[in-house]
Amino acid sequence: MSSRIVVIGAGLGGLAASALLARAGHQVTVLEGQDWVGGKSRRIELDGQRLDTGPSLVTFPEVWRTVLRTYDELGPKGTPAAEIAGVTLEALPEVGRYYFRGQQANLPVEAGHPWHDAWARFEAEHGSLGPAITHLLTADPWDKGILPAIAKLLSRYGTRLTTASFLAGLDWMPEDLKDVIAIHTLNAGVGPEQTLALYASMAAVMASDGVWVPRGGVYEIAAGLEKLALEAGVDIHTSEAVVRVAPKEVTTAKDTYHCDYVVSALDGGILESLMGRPKSKPPARLSCSGVAIFGVLDEELPPEVVTHSVMMPNNPADLFDALGKRVMPSETMAFLNYYRTGVVYPNTKPVAALLLTAPPSGLSATIDDPFVVAESKRFSHLLGLKRPITEMMTHHKVLDPQYFEGFGAVGGALYGEPAPWWRSGPFHTPPYNSPRTPWLWRVGSSVHPGGGIPAVLGGVMISLRRMLTRLG
Ligand SMILES: Cc1cc2nc3c(=O)[nH]c(=O)nc-3n(C[C@H](O)[C@H](O)[C@H](O)COP(=O)(O)OP(=O)(O)OC[C@H]3O[C@@H](n4cnc5c(N)ncnc54)[C@H](O)[C@@H]3O)c2cc1C
Repeated sequence: MSSRIVVIGAGLGGLAASALLARAGHQVTVLEGQDWVGGKSRRIELDGQRLDTGPSLVTFPEVWRTVLRTYDELGPKGTPAAEIAGVTLEALPEVGRYYFRGQQANLPVEAGHPWHDAWARFEAEHGSLGPAITHLLTADPWDKGILPAIAKLLSRYGTRLTTASFLAGLDWMPEDLKDVIAIHTLNAGVGPEQTLALYASMAAVMASDGVWVPRGGVYEIAAGLEKLALEAGVDIHTSEAVVRVAPKEVTTAKDTYHCDYVVSALDGGILESLMGRPKSKPPARLSCSGVAIFGVLDEELPPEVVTHSVMMPNNPADLFDALGKRVMPSETMAFLNYYRTGVVYPNTKPVAALLLTAPPSGLSATIDDPFVVAESKRFSHLLGLKRPITEMMTHHKVLDPQYFEGFGAVGGALYGEPAPWWRSGPFHTPPYNSPRTPWLWRVGSSVHPGGGIPAVLGGVMISLRRMLTRLG
């Protein structure tokens, strides 16, 4: 039996869900409020140069391959999904170069560096956890088959179950290296006290298994999912924001769509308000937001500047504290993604993205804000540049918490309300579907916060496997 399904939101979660549902033989309509598909993953052009905003790295690439395999398996034999999507993942030589308290190091830490021996021990103990984590990202939390993967992870952490407590127990590791490892919990939008110990392993897994960028830019993932969805017959409507969700009925300013099932790929808070039950109080805790400046550079950076650099705050605890209080930190954690001419993007000029972690306060920012100017100067000085990177931008675009709030969670929080630490990562019990609303299913980073693209895509497969079983 073919069901009529409306998917709300064409971010990576909504696109993947719609492609797989249509491939399984259902009639799928996607309703997207913005005039682009991809949600936080978006492609812009400045001065004729390509820049992909939002995510910049693909980790746990096996999750992406599982999406492609699942797509192939759900329908009749034809052109393979990998060929339709046309995404070629390319490994970067390093996770990034980290700048902290006068020191700098690549991950993996290079031989001869004072952190090298400790890093080598850490990577030897944690670097092989990639397959176990990938399994947890894609397998149903209620499937007994995940027990070996859980056992493998727990054998590394013992009773120290948060990132902060686990790292505190590693008395052989230099404190500064612990801080560098701990900062990765900001990928989940929160500090190391609020995530499972497993987030400490992420840096080692990324260093062992590699980090990847699709040839042409990360937006190729969104574009690939859109191609799969269209090939499977999905009807995608952009610029059509949903204003009301009722049982088996979705309303936009243009139309009312009657259906058998609704799949929400929206932030949980937005969905609740579209269903007429907004929270009386804003969430007590929110994940972080960001101020991102994308620009075309007037010259190449020195050869020693790698593709992805990370600048740490001198006191990470102050940053976590400020983010929790939703106030501007004095120093932040920042990324500089730098793409030389012709590298990753088919550009004729160098481009860069300066991504500054910021509180989820809905603030708007410009390139001249004191916070942006100060952090741009600090980072550029660390990189040995003659001028602040923002002053090297001939054309730029700023995306701020106000922008992210425009189509996402309150305050522009990148992952909305964070789950408690024991439910961060794959050990969640997310409400994919509830007996009270059997017509409604959920996917996206709101149900799988904190893991970026792999968590969103893995979560789609878990949720849809259950949904398709229910649909027979
Ligand atoms: C700056 C930044 C850097 C990141 N870096 C990385 C990275 O390097 N690697 C990584 O793996 N992940 C990264 N992430 C995380 C990753 O981008 C997200 O996890 C992922 O894109 C979320 O996808 P989603 O589909 O769940 O949500 P979204 O992309 O937020 O999609 C939700 C969609 O719903 C739409 N919508 C909202 N309201 C309505 C409505 N009323 N009607 C219709 N449509 C509506 C929105 O317009 C949007 O398209 C980063 C995110 C950001 C912001």
